[in-house]
Amino acid sequence: MKSLLRTKSNKVREASRWRAVQHRDERANGTFVFAVKTTGIYCKPSCPAKRANRENVLFYDSFLEAEAAGFRPCKRCRPQLIPSTIPHAEAIIHACRTVELKGDSMSLRDLAREAGMSPFHFSRVFKEATGVTPKAYANALRARRMRTMLQSSRSVEAAIQRTGYRSVSRFYADAEGQLGMTPSALKSRGKRETITYALMRCSLGHLLVASTAKGICTIELGDDPLKLLADFKNRFADATLVAGDKSFVRTAARVIALMESPKVGLDLPLDIRGTAFQHRVWQALRKIPAGETITYSELAERLGCPRSVRAVASACAANRIAVAVPCHRVVRIGGNLAGYYWGIERKKELINREKRDSAKGSD
Ligand SMILES: [Zn+2]
Repeated sequence: MKSLLRTKSNKVREASRWRAVQHRDERANGTFVFAVKTTGIYCKPSCPAKRANRENVLFYDSFLEAEAAGFRPCKRCRPQLIPSTIPHAEAIIHACRTVELKGDSMSLRDLAREAGMSPFHFSRVFKEATGVTPKAYANALRARRMRTMLQSSRSVEAAIQRTGYRSVSRFYADAEGQLGMTPSALKSRGKRETITYALMRCSLGHLLVASTAKGICTIELGDDPLKLLADFKNRFADATLVAGDKSFVRTAARVIALMESPKVGLDLPLDIRGTAFQHRVWQALRKIPAGETITYSELAERLGCPRSVRAVASACAANRIAVAVPCHRVVRIGGNLAGYYWGIERKKELINREKRDSAKGSD
């Protein structure tokens, strides 16, 4: 009986949402988004684009749920953006990034404290801006991770482990609710990818270069080639790994040339993986010219999120494409080099090389 009532109230709600979509009602913006099955895109109620047939439309309480279900945001109405005009926009965007980076490990109280608000007030402001509570936001991100993991893992069990679910039944319940299909159905749609790699030597030590069909996905430096290889195999445990042939070694040679003289740049496509926020940070890194360094706070400022210095620093540290994504060009205030995933000595050497190169270039 209860579920019958729920179905009925759902129907009423969907009908009123569909009316709002048909009338492009601006007042409905922020209360839900609608997604179109045939195009794979979701929109705000007021989107000016042509309307799809009702039977192809799905409604979601927030843009995150639409994303978690695998829909992409419309480029016209940009339903995923939090407008900077809303109250506390910066604090909310910062909180979203924090949840994106740390998942469920931040409590509501911690998030509220960072935003300088009471938990109650923060919760309300967050919901007004995103359409969901901070908890639902974290859940939606987890669903998105779940989808990615299922598509890249060997088995459903492996994906459960990697998403950090404690109970298998909870995972299945969440997956069906949030993905709209069973984990194995989604899994069978995922393809196993092939990654080609080569280990080489350069003046900075041993170098591992790897590439997918899309482009270079890994450039790692280290002292011990076996450790480099083991870490790489572990990171891409679900892919088919193939040692590079002669033509791939030529590609890798261009990466070595980049190490010797970072200023020349790398004229090869990159396959950069990470969260949306990491992408933004890494793209910003690629705009720092060789021979220059900036601080983490300057970088955060450039990205328009001056309060997210720590999140920016973690994104820099998560980069796995050495030198081509030049995270070595970011230092602490006062010139302190801070850390470097591939060793502080290498960072120092890279910065010196670039300074030397650009001094030569300007003679
Ligand atoms: Zn749209």
